[in-house]
Amino acid sequence: MNTESIAKHAKQWKLICDDYSVDILNDAVQFIQRHSEILVVEFYKNMMLEKEASYFLSDDIVQNRLTKTLNQWLIESFNAPLQHKFEEVAAKQQMVGKVHARIGIPSWLIMRGIREIEKKIFSLKAESQYAENYTLSMISYIFQILGFSSEIICRSYEVNIEKNNDIKHSYRLFSAMQDASVQKDKQRSSLLDWENELMFKVFSDTQRFTHPALSKSEFGLWFIHKAAYAFSGSEQVDEIISRIYEVDLLNNHVLECGQKEQTIALIQQMRSKNREIQHLIDQLFQVAEYIDSGNDALTQLLNRRYLETIVSREIHFSRKNHSPLSLLAIDADFFKRINDKHGHAAGDLALQFISEVLLESVRGSDYAFRIGGEEFLLLLVDSDLIRAQEIAERIRKRVQDTPIRSSLGSSFNFTVSIGCALYDGHPDYQRFLDAADAALYAAKNKGRNNVYLAKLSTQ
Ligand code: GH3
Ligand code: MG
Ligand code: MG
Repeated sequence: MNTESIAKHAKQWKLICDDYSVDILNDAVQFIQRHSEILVVEFYKNMMLEKEASYFLSDDIVQNRLTKTLNQWLIESFNAPLQHKFEEVAAKQQMVGKVHARIGIPSWLIMRGIREIEKKIFSLKAESQYAENYTLSMISYIFQILGFSSEIICRSYEVNIEKNNDIKHSYRLFSAMQDASVQKDKQRSSLLDWENELMFKVFSDTQRFTHPALSKSEFGLWFIHKAAYAFSGSEQVDEIISRIYEVDLLNNHVLECGQKEQTIALIQQMRSKNREIQHLIDQLFQVAEYIDSGNDALTQLLNRRYLETIVSREIHFSRKNHSPLSLLAIDADFFKRINDKHGHAAGDLALQFISEVLLESVRGSDYAFRIGGEEFLLLLVDSDLIRAQEIAERIRKRVQDTPIRSSLGSSFNFTVSIGCALYDGHPDYQRFLDAADAALYAAKNKGRNNVYLAKLSTQ
C-alpha cells in the first residue's frame, strides 16, 4: 500500500459521498455519534462469541482500549468527508489494516463485527424522526462507507500479512541455516565422498557400475532444497546449480564410456567443476552474504531484519503460556565522542565488546539484536522485571568497569544506558518495542549510565 493507493481510495470515498446530499452526510454523523457507544458494544458482544476473537480481546485492558479506538474510528469515518479529509480517512483505514496484520486479527472477524453494526443500525431506523425514504437513504450511505472502509482495511491487511509471511518464511530458513558452518563442512565432505566413490568404482576395474547423479546425492539434495532457498538472491546459487547439472552430464558420460583414457579426461573435468562448486559455496557462506540474511556484520548479533518476527512470536508464546517476557533497550552513551577521540576502529571494538557482554549475560534462549549503530535490544524470554533489571545492571556495570584498549595503544572507558520493559499483554508488539524505547529515553534523561524500568501501563 502506498500514497498512490491512498489517493485512489480517497477519490473513491469522495465519489460515494457525492451521491448523497450534504444534509444526509451531516445527519449520518449525528446518527453515528448518537449511537456509537451502543454500536461498539454490539460489535464486540457478538464477535466475542467467536473463539478466535477471545484470543485477541479477552484482556480487559485491550478491550477497554479497543472500545475507545473503535468509537473514534466510527465517528472519524463519517466526519472526515464533511471536512474534505478524504486522504486522511483513507490512510487511516490502511493503518488499521496494518495494525490488524501486525496483531494477527483475521479480517473476517472485522467483517463479522461490521455486519453486527449494520444490523443494529438498521434496527435503530425506527427511532428516526425523518421521513422513511430519507432515513433509508442515510442508512444506505452509512452502509456504503462501512463497506468501503472495511474493503480498504482488508486490502491493507492482506498486503501486510503477505509481507509478514514472507519474512517469517525466510526466518524459518534462516534458523534452519543457523548451524551453517557445521552444514557447510558436512556438505563439503559429502561432495568429496560422492566424487571419491565414483573414482573408486572407475579405478577398481569393475566392468559396469552405477553411480547416482550429483543432483540426487546428499550434497546435491541439500543444496537444491535448502541452501539454494536460504541464499536465494545470491548469484552463486544459480552458478552452483548449473554446475551440479553439468556434473550430472559428465557422470552419465563416465558411466557410458568404455575407454579408460576418455574416462580419466571426463573425471578430470568433473573434479575441476566440483572444485568450482566448493569455491562458490565458500563464497556463499562468507560473512557478507550470511549477514544479509539476519546477522549483523560487526558483532554477529541478530540484525533488525527478524526483530518483528521474533518479538511477535515470543509475544504470542507469552500470552498463550502466561509466561513473563522482558525487553532491554541498550544504547552506548556519548558514542560520537568516543569515535571522535579514539577513532572509528576503537569505536567498533567497543561495540564488539558490548555484544560480548550481552551474550555473556543471557541464556541461550534469549535474543540479542544490534538494531542500529550503537543500539541493541535484548529480548529476555520467560523473564520478569526482576531478572531483566538484574541483567541490565550487570551489563551496565561490566561496560562501565572494563577499559577498551584500542589498537593504537590508548585505552578508554565508556558507559551504556538501558531501558527495561515488561510485556503487558497487548497483542501489538510495536507497543512493547516502544515501551522499551521510552524507558531508554528516560534512562538517558536521568543522566545516562543507568537502568530505567518502564512503568507498567494500567490502561
Ligand atoms: P547518546 O548518549 O545520546 O546516545 O549520544 P551518542 O553520541 O551515543 O548518540 P548519537 O545517536 O547521536 O550517536 C551515535 C554515534 O554512534 C554516531 C556514530 O558515529 C556512532 N556509530 C554508529 N554506528 C557505528 C559503528 O558501526 N561503528 C562506530 N565506531 N561508531 C558507530
Ligand atoms: Mg548513543
Ligand atoms: Mg543512539
